[in-house]
Amino acid sequence: MAIHTFQEWQELASRLKVRSQAFINGQFVDAVSKETFDNINPATGEIISKVSACDVEDVNIAVEAARTSFENGVWSKTDPQFRKKVLLKLADLIRDNLDELALLESLDMGKKVEDAATVDVPGSAMFWQWYAEAIDKIYDEVAPVAPGNLAHVSREPLGVVGAVVPWNFPLDMATWKCAPALATGNSVVLKPAEQSPSSALFLAELAKDAGLPDGVLNVVPGFGHTAGQALGRHMDVDCLTFTGSTPIGKLFQIYAGESNMKQVWLETGGKSPNIVFADAENLDKAADMAIFGIFFNQGEVCSANSRLLVEACIKDEFVEKLKQRLASCQPGNPLDPDSGIGAIVDKNQLETIKRYIEIGKETARLVAGGEVVNIEGKGCFVQPTIFDEVTRQHQIAREEIFGPVLSVMTFESEAEAIEIANDTEFGLAASVWTGSLSRAHRVADKLVAGTVSVNTVDALSAMTPFGGFKQSGFGRDLSLHALDKFTGLKTTWITYEK
Ligand code: NAD
Repeated sequence: MAIHTFQEWQELASRLKVRSQAFINGQFVDAVSKETFDNINPATGEIISKVSACDVEDVNIAVEAARTSFENGVWSKTDPQFRKKVLLKLADLIRDNLDELALLESLDMGKKVEDAATVDVPGSAMFWQWYAEAIDKIYDEVAPVAPGNLAHVSREPLGVVGAVVPWNFPLDMATWKCAPALATGNSVVLKPAEQSPSSALFLAELAKDAGLPDGVLNVVPGFGHTAGQALGRHMDVDCLTFTGSTPIGKLFQIYAGESNMKQVWLETGGKSPNIVFADAENLDKAADMAIFGIFFNQGEVCSANSRLLVEACIKDEFVEKLKQRLASCQPGNPLDPDSGIGAIVDKNQLETIKRYIEIGKETARLVAGGEVVNIEGKGCFVQPTIFDEVTRQHQIAREEIFGPVLSVMTFESEAEAIEIANDTEFGLAASVWTGSLSRAHRVADKLVAGTVSVNTVDALSAMTPFGGFKQSGFGRDLSLHALDKFTGLKTTWITYEK
């Protein structure tokens, strides 16, 4: 059952308040330059808001506010019970504003509003709650040193955390960074993607309403090469946590090396394999999930199962099953609960996807989709697209497309499946479908991926770490392990008279 009808979502959208100024030291402010950029709804081409274009000066002011709040202890040195109460309240406020946040996500970057309202926004509230609840349950350590000594090992917040996030799950990516960073007592400067600033700005306002002191969470909307770079190169940012593409992730390592050697944590791209063995117990479920794994969120998912490896003997049957399911994932108005998928984030991304589809048409066999379409005469939409007879040398099998494009490949043996799956520069996620317990373990052991999902795709929870190997990055979001990124261990060694 949809949360709202198409008409109700349209009415809610027509009354929506869209925040567009930077949020620094507890206030909405213009960029120092007064410059703005257009925030465009990719489903309609309409301008949603004119957003403050933050640059070096704005980042400097935001970092100073964050530093001041960190040093004066209004958050960093408070009772954990206080921090827990504030972040729990924030989780409640996110739930109270579910419709509004879901609409901001959808209008900014084109995803289906019903998905935002049932997945992204409840997910964000749950993650905030989870880290809030963790605050008073994590103990420091006492090391087993010789009598007459007490060595206390504590986790210290790092100070000012810069967070630079992408547009595909704007609220959730901001949450994955900010919730553990704030839970551990840091102050944060968040730079949302230029395509999707609105939910981050509203989040900052809600955090203030929840009781977060001024300066502890600042949001600087702007472009990557300006605001993002300024944060990455800032001499007074202690830690930079990033989610985005692999090439930009590498830039942050350079920025850190050329500035103050800040800690850098990267969650970057993927080209995740989904391996279907002929002994899978339920091929219909495998087909349902293969479709979900590549077409959910228009395929704009870092862990999208974009390479489908099917055992040769069932390939034709399996591809037929995929084709039968395509009717339910055709693009449509993102505000319409009956649409299969929404709009692609912007014209640039649309062009990138189009280019890969053209390459695919030249090198592989197009089975379905392959066209850019308009909805109600407007917008950036792509049909769910499937290529068969793809080999691992093909560009569409090697490079991250970040769109609704599936490459189907075949294998003859378990060893070959593993070899193809691991033949990638990425290592974010992988899925395996088999009815054999031994095979499930054997294959999972050998796959190089941060998460291996067996008989499902994209398994994810607050309780389990998320992140990649190889050029998918390092460090982990989610789970208690995320707290490690935002704290440093400090040893206080006391020697006393026995
Ligand atoms: P992107 O790398 O272009 O942008 C990400 C962020 O970096 C944005 O805020 C952007 O403004 C900023 N940025 C861009 N250029 C910059 C520069 N020169 N200096 C500093 N900052 C800069 O990525 P995107 O297109 O927004 O998102 C898609 C990418 O994100 C995909 O590669 C996807 O796999 C990845 N992603 C990864 C995960 C994960 O957890 N591993 C999750 C979601 C998305």
